[in-house]
Amino acid sequence: MSFWHCKGRNRIAVPNVVDSSPHDFMTRCAVIAPRSIERANESRVLRSMQEYLDGEQSCNRSWILGVIGADIPLANRLLLTRFARYRQAQRFRDLQATPIRQTLQINCECGEHYAVEFQIFLGVSAGLHFFLCSQCQRRQTTSGEVVNASRWDELSGKWTRVAANSAR
Ligand SMILES: [Zn+2]
Repeated sequence: MSFWHCKGRNRIAVPNVVDSSPHDFMTRCAVIAPRSIERANESRVLRSMQEYLDGEQSCNRSWILGVIGADIPLANRLLLTRFARYRQAQRFRDLQATPIRQTLQINCECGEHYAVEFQIFLGVSAGLHFFLCSQCQRRQTTSGEVVNASRWDELSGKWTRVAANSAR
């Protein structure tokens, strides 16, 4: 049985809450939910990746990228640890071939705001990447190589392009 299937049979495990007390329920949610959501999400990505790497026809590259969504660091960790044996497979190589780009907002401690676009190759050890704040030179860790960066300019109320001061 699959938690998440590319043929439309999507199943997500929902914990069975038997306790009726709202207080207990809230406590359980606060304490248990983040862990179990994290685990459910990990098994969703794990199973989907298995289907993709097993060559299921409808589970193509764009499908798996859609499943992964923003969970790129998680997907990369799973690929490198749980699916290392697929390293030579065509589908593994397809993932490695094209970078995925993501934009994140970084708020530096000095008060500067940046929109930083970086690229990640799935199935490749990410290494350490940083973005350097152009005002205070603080290093901000990013999950991939920085390719574009913009700084929020309070005076003009606009994003202005800055150098993608990335360092490995
Ligand atoms: Zn700064």
